[in-house]
Amino acid sequence: MEYRCVECGGRMTTLFVQYSPGNIRLMKCGNCKAVADEYIECEPIIILIDLILHKTKAYTHLLYNVIDPQAPSFQGLLWKSTFGFLLLDACILTVLIRIVFLEI
Ligand SMILES: [Zn+2]
Repeated sequence: MEYRCVECGGRMTTLFVQYSPGNIRLMKCGNCKAVADEYIECEPIIILIDLILHKTKAYTHLLYNVIDPQAPSFQGLLWKSTFGFLLLDACILTVLIRIVFLEI
């Protein structure tokens, strides 16, 4: 799996080096000299908040460094995400139609 730097999008072979269980060192990017992916050490709720805030770094972390397109479960995840998006989009459209035409 090939990783990406969340700061500049540069390609990385690894994001961290593990010396012992629970003792890791984050790698720095060769292009921008910043930590390649600081979200590795973050709690999932922090990543979720940054995704809600549409931070590009959080999306880069999720799409390039967490989800592996070569994994067998990727196709199922893609279908579930598509179904969830369409369901939420239908809900938003229903609410907007009610607001505009029924003036609730
Ligand atoms: Zn970089």
